[in-house]
Amino acid sequence: MKRELGITVKKDENFSEWYSQVVQKAELADIRFGIQGFIVHRPWGFFIIRKIYEYLEEEVEKQCHLPYLFPVAVKEDDLKREKDHAGFTPNVFWISEAGEKKLEERFALRPTGEAQIYPLYSLWFRSYKDLPFKGYQSRISAFRNEMTTRPFLRGREFLFFETHNVFNRHEEALEQIKEDLDTCKKVIGEKIKLPFLYFKRPEWDKFSGADDTYTPDTLMPDGKRNQLASTHDLGQNFSKAFNIKVKGKDEKEQFVWQTCFGPGIWRIMAALIGIHGDNNGLVIPSDMSPLQIIIIPITFSNKEAESKKVIELCRKIESSLKKIGYRTKFDDSEDTPGFKHNKWELFGVPIRVEIGPKEAKNKTVSLALRTENKKRQLKLSNLEKEIKKLLSKLDKDIESKANEYFKNNTRNSNSLKDLKELIKKYKGFIKVPFCSVKNDGEKCADILKAETDGAYVCGTLYPKEEKVSPNSKCIICNKKAEHTVYVAKSY
Ligand SMILES: [Zn+2]
Repeated sequence: MKRELGITVKKDENFSEWYSQVVQKAELADIRFGIQGFIVHRPWGFFIIRKIYEYLEEEVEKQCHLPYLFPVAVKEDDLKREKDHAGFTPNVFWISEAGEKKLEERFALRPTGEAQIYPLYSLWFRSYKDLPFKGYQSRISAFRNEMTTRPFLRGREFLFFETHNVFNRHEEALEQIKEDLDTCKKVIGEKIKLPFLYFKRPEWDKFSGADDTYTPDTLMPDGKRNQLASTHDLGQNFSKAFNIKVKGKDEKEQFVWQTCFGPGIWRIMAALIGIHGDNNGLVIPSDMSPLQIIIIPITFSNKEAESKKVIELCRKIESSLKKIGYRTKFDDSEDTPGFKHNKWELFGVPIRVEIGPKEAKNKTVSLALRTENKKRQLKLSNLEKEIKKLLSKLDKDIESKANEYFKNNTRNSNSLKDLKELIKKYKGFIKVPFCSVKNDGEKCADILKAETDGAYVCGTLYPKEEKVSPNSKCIICNKKAEHTVYVAKSY
């Protein structure tokens, strides 16, 4: 049986098909589970996702967040308690029966955490001395009834991570927002090597129930915006709705200030696949790859003695690299060297080591980085020492390639006509002068969306908003432009 291997389309010619093939052929997810929008996370993909979780957990715990675990269920009235937040209800899954019986009180599968967590917060804090409080949930799912679904971009069940923080004063909440953005920089930027911009969302596009929403957004290879996380200044909206109060120093009861932060685990995964991958498949930062080094033997059936030496050497190298902590595998399967080469390239293994009779005789190895199109010859005695340098070279390659694409895809425009052309030709981020990011600007955003076949006002740069030149006008209504906003097509 011929096994189908390799990506059959080019990434820049048909990104959507390329993405689907990588997800399937690199065994990241299986969409054949049988219920639409519910996918199986396969081992190769889930290892990478678990790394994303580990990085986030490590960072938020440095900021004194502690983990907890809430049930998957939410009470119906809790879901509807904050009036804007109740906007989630049309998309929630309801559990209304058990066996043959109707439940007395139906409940929902959590669409997000606020409505299930905050009723308990109203019981946990009594005094200003109980605050600040920083809790988080990790490695869990949330559920929404999405009509169109794609692995790691949109699902009816999707992986979740959330922090929920409670403060005595608004200033502390704003500090937390900055810490969240710093977490994004450290995890998404430094570890996962994904470039992004921080936006403050326009007023009409905030998280339901939030005073302000901030997001790091990246660009996928097809030029569409992918929101990687969000952090929200919840003000006192939820504390008033859920009655979360503490006694202040002055003995008076006061509503608390809250923030919540939700990195999109799936969205980050989708960006990693899309942005780092190439025509041959997946490319993974070295610390995130399930295997860091694959050893491929080149043997010949008519040269038994030499082949034996090759195999012995492969095993020796495997065990010595494992001993110093690298995730290493000797691929001794019956597939041909060519097949193994293509397979591990498709799976994105950072380093391929090839050993044939020549290498065994000369005490050398032939080695290739996933990000390079060349083979290097190394002395066997130098291998252990060189691996570390080579992995860091690979990480730098990944980072600079991603940054280059990102930089080249931010453009300026001063007219709707020009914007329409740019969106059509390149997509990407386009900066335009715009009248207002308060609710009165929504009308212009709607017109912009209709005129550009769906482009979206992402918001203004944060924390430092870009200046608008004094005489510029909103590209839609022609009124004085108060802001430079970024526009993009969106996932
Ligand atoms: Zn306008």
